[in-house]
Parts: sequence; structure tokens; C-alpha cells
Amino acid sequence: MHCPFCGANDTRVTDSRLVAEGDQVRRRRQCANCQERFTTYETAELIMPRVVKSDGSRESFNEAKLRDGMLRALEKRPVSAEAIEASVERIRQTLRARGDREVNAREIGEAVMKALRSLDQVAYIRFASVYRKFQDLDEFRAEIDRLSQEPTDEPEGSGTQHGAS
Ligand SMILES: [Zn+2]
Repeated sequence: MHCPFCGANDTRVTDSRLVAEGDQVRRRRQCANCQERFTTYETAELIMPRVVKSDGSRESFNEAKLRDGMLRALEKRPVSAEAIEASVERIRQTLRARGDREVNAREIGEAVMKALRSLDQVAYIRFASVYRKFQDLDEFRAEIDRLSQEPTDEPEGSGTQHGAS
């Protein structure tokens, strides 16, 4: 593969290991020309179900959107990028394993909540309290953007009521 720094096509693998519980191969590479090092990730690509949104419209499963939603909830939390990646991969696998052609956006949200609960309690509460009011990740993202633009107006204790249902 081409070196992303100088474009030379002579790069060699210096290390190769399984990550994300064995579903991903991480390779450290070094360019023989400029000696720069970089990392590549290899994952099997399988067909994901289409996502049925709350208004009935369909869209392709969007892994970036899923990751983005999780990262927003995990902002400034002590959770490693690798743990987050493993979670994203696990959600993908779960959805794929269903074998359905379509999946409700709502179920993806629930899967994210479950993943966050095992990663970080604060991120989970953050996500759940906001997400439960919404139908899908788009709305969640808009709300998080809105909240993060307001200066800290959620002192301990006063922000807990909106999660109740
Ligand atoms: Zn190079």
C-alpha cells in the first residue's frame, strides 16, 4: 500500500495484531522510502441492515453517525479510543447477526445505550437522559449540540428530572 506521507509504494508491516476482540487486524507499517510510520486497520465488510427512521424513511446504516453519537456522550470521559472502537464493532456485529434486512433506528439507540452503560456510567446517563426523548441519533445530536452551546447550566441535581418517564 502507498505511503500516506510520500506516496512511495514500498511500505512494510512492522507489527500486526488482532484488536477489537479479534475482529480487526491492526498493522503498523513503515515506509521504506521516507521511514515514516503509520497504522492501518483491516475489518471484514459485511452487509448491514437498512435503518428505518421514526418517520418511516429508510437510510443506510451509518457507522460514523453511531460513533459520533457515542463520542459526544463520552466527551471528556476517561474511556480509551480502543474501548470505544470495540463497542462500535460489537454493535455492528449484533445488528448484522440479526440477519434482518432492516432495523429500527430506535433499536440502534438502545444498543448504544447498552454499550455506554458498560463503558462509562456518566456517558450512559448523559446519553440516556437526552436520547430517550428522541427517536433517533440525528435528533440526539442536535440536542447535544444545543446543550453544549449553553454554558454550564446543569448543576448537580437539577438536571436529573428530565430523564424520568
Ligand atoms: Zn513514505
